[in-house]
Amino acid sequence: MASAIPIEWHQINTVFLDMDGTLLDLHFDNHFWLEHMPKRYAEKNNISYQQASDILIRHSESTQGSLDWYCLDHWTNTLDLDVIALKHEVADKIAIRKNVIQFLTHLRTLNKRIVLLTNAHTDSVKLKFSYVELESYFDTVITSHDIGLAKEELGFWEALAHHEKFDKKHSMFIDDNFDVLDNAKQIGIKYLLTISQPDSKKPIKNTDNYVAIEDYQQLIY
Ligand SMILES: [Mg+2]
Repeated sequence: MASAIPIEWHQINTVFLDMDGTLLDLHFDNHFWLEHMPKRYAEKNNISYQQASDILIRHSESTQGSLDWYCLDHWTNTLDLDVIALKHEVADKIAIRKNVIQFLTHLRTLNKRIVLLTNAHTDSVKLKFSYVELESYFDTVITSHDIGLAKEELGFWEALAHHEKFDKKHSMFIDDNFDVLDNAKQIGIKYLLTISQPDSKKPIKNTDNYVAIEDYQQLIY
């Protein structure tokens, strides 16, 4: 079993948590965007899977890291596909990572403020909450669409401060995206952790710059 990750819990008031790849298995999202969407897009446009995949990758590269990239309306309009309806088709792959519920319950007993902080579109968050029981564990849910900037964009944390009071020296943030963590580090969020294997079907990532969680049990003690 992976060993405990030492944290000065008494120093932490707020715990910000990413959703996809952090609390939920990223396999759903990877499967959806890299396999299911190209398949459906190919069928709709009478092109090959490879052609569809190339088109989607090109669209994706031009917006990556921006709010548009995370925006379902953007994809629905650009591709003329009902993205949410397609997500429902493969929703059986939406899964909470191991020991996440135990961890959230533990944070509650420690009296921490628990904030879901996601780049996912509100409709995507709602869809996930309708398949897995997660919503009730948060004090509040904030999406980057509420803020107007993606988590990896400059000014995100300053803008977040208008929505949520927090002290960066007493905040923890867990996210599987290094650009997002780098941005948080730069403005001084003190306790940063990442995830060693965001997608359960992919290899363990190289996470040298941040302490990585293998199993949330490592944070429960
Ligand atoms: Mg993530």
